Amino acid sequence: MADQLSAAGLAAANDIPSLDRLLNAEALRPALAAHGRTQVVAALRRDLEALRKRALDGGVPRHELDAAAVAARTSAALDEAARPRLRAVYNLTGTVLHTNLGRALLPDEAVASVLRALTTPANLEFDLDTGGRGDRDDLIDDLLCELTGAEAATVVNNNAAAVLLMLNALADRREVVVSRGELVEIGGAFRIPDIMKRAGAKLVEVGTTNRTHAADYENAVGPRTAMLMKVHCSNYAVTGFTKSVGVADVAALAHARGLPATVDLGSGTLVDLTQFGLPKEDTVRETIAAGADLVTFSGDKLLGGPQAGLLVGRADLIRKIKKNPLKRALRVGKLTLAALEPVLQLYRAPEFLAQRLTTLRLLTRPMRDIQPQAERLRGVLAHAAGPSYAVEAVPMFSQIGSGALPIDQLPSYGLAVRYAGSGRPGRHLDRLETLLRRLPVPVIGRVADDALWLDLRCLEDRDEAAFAAQLAEPLA
Ligand SMILES: *Cc1c(COP(=O)(O)O)cnc(C)c1O
Repeated sequence: MADQLSAAGLAAANDIPSLDRLLNAEALRPALAAHGRTQVVAALRRDLEALRKRALDGGVPRHELDAAAVAARTSAALDEAARPRLRAVYNLTGTVLHTNLGRALLPDEAVASVLRALTTPANLEFDLDTGGRGDRDDLIDDLLCELTGAEAATVVNNNAAAVLLMLNALADRREVVVSRGELVEIGGAFRIPDIMKRAGAKLVEVGTTNRTHAADYENAVGPRTAMLMKVHCSNYAVTGFTKSVGVADVAALAHARGLPATVDLGSGTLVDLTQFGLPKEDTVRETIAAGADLVTFSGDKLLGGPQAGLLVGRADLIRKIKKNPLKRALRVGKLTLAALEPVLQLYRAPEFLAQRLTTLRLLTRPMRDIQPQAERLRGVLAHAAGPSYAVEAVPMFSQIGSGALPIDQLPSYGLAVRYAGSGRPGRHLDRLETLLRRLPVPVIGRVADDALWLDLRCLEDRDEAAFAAQLAEPLA
């Protein structure tokens, strides 16, 4: 039988080289150097086991048993297993602050600071003036107060945590009055009624979906009321026959009863965005100035920093919040603080902000940059996609994303790819979308209205060459 196999160029099970022989083979050296003996032995065992099975089932081509062939398969398997799961992608979805793609990108100053905090000891909770123990919030609370006009500030893991902590610290087993028009759900898992329950607070809904009046709040206040709360309608708009009560009026009502008014501002910007040609969004400072006693917002939405939840407001309330055991459970790590401080520093120089704060630079990227880029890349993508597709450079609209300014759109430019053949385009567009997603640096676009849309707003000029290089050859 072995002779018959041999004559056909096939190997039998007893022709398979031993593990020891392979481990000493020259061809395995690179794999051993890259991945270490433990992993190489395990990968070789798997490979040899598969060969043995096939040999018993009828034979394996001889060349597959060469040490070089075994080494190549082993290296490929181990390289694949070692490839990071968290990978860089091109965000051409048109949504600048895309929650599923990691929201805000950090400016260089923040990256340098994180790197330093990662690799050197730092005064995270150490007071350099006294030599005594410090509080990690001290690293950023002065800056937050300066930028928002608040008396005090603290920071936790994200805005959902900030809201949970605020409610538990100030409204455990008491009532929180919220307008029915503001009972938001963000991304499925954050719903105001659920967070309330988890925090131990009782939600008292007032008004209707479209209209809430001052009297609705007033009538809801009772002996068990802990606060009046407003929530930013981050991902929807109530339009038509509507009425809501602004922060100043809710705060006045609350204060008249000796209660705090709190605001979950969601995205929470620190500057007036209209100076950059962007839509109006209430700033944290304006919200505090209007009378809010406590404001919570995200670090990685419009603020343009790391994932974090910021709480700013009255000193006595912040003190109470910091004493709550949940604060310890939800506190941020040093990497977050290392990233947050330089980002907040950038806000001290608003004249440079649109250049230095990555999020704002992307949101304000001028059409005179995006349109020519679309025209340059049109031919590149057309070549890569092949003759079955028609690629056009076209105007489109970007979104800010992450619940900021949900209905406002930013004029942008990009590439629209349509199927050039006859018949239904869906399958062909999905195929192209998949090919782009499987590139070494995946390109993430969006299929809608019988086209694949690639919004180029977030492809900055410095990344264009690498982007085009990936598309130099036709996609498989
Ligand atoms: C985004 C958002 C949240 C959740 O913030 P995270 O930082 O993602 O936890 C909560 N409330 C509102 C109003 C939001 O827009």
